[in-house]
Amino acid sequence: MRIRKGDKVKVISGRSKGVESRVVSIDREAGKVVVEGVNTVTKHIRPSQKNPQGGRLEIDKPIDMSNVQVVCEACGKAARMGARVTADGTKERFCKKCGAGNGQISKAKN
Ligand SMILES: [Zn+2]
Repeated sequence: MRIRKGDKVKVISGRSKGVESRVVSIDREAGKVVVEGVNTVTKHIRPSQKNPQGGRLEIDKPIDMSNVQVVCEACGKAARMGARVTADGTKERFCKKCGAGNGQISKAKN
């Protein structure tokens, strides 16, 4: 999966199926992503010195990377992304549905 922080993704399975939102952080080793407003849990906090009132805290928990798909910048559809090398040697990500480029992966060599 070629997901980057800040990408717009669509959740394709689980409780938040169909939701489109932004990637907040990525844990590549665990294969997890945190998507804004997805898999949110409410944590109840006891009053403490740091937080004398206690209260509730909303946290977005990581979900499996395989449960999201990148939304193409060009066609707006959740699509699989491929990688290709352009004429100048730049590696870029592209949408497998419409073929449009979706951002650079690495710069041109030389
Ligand atoms: Zn596309």
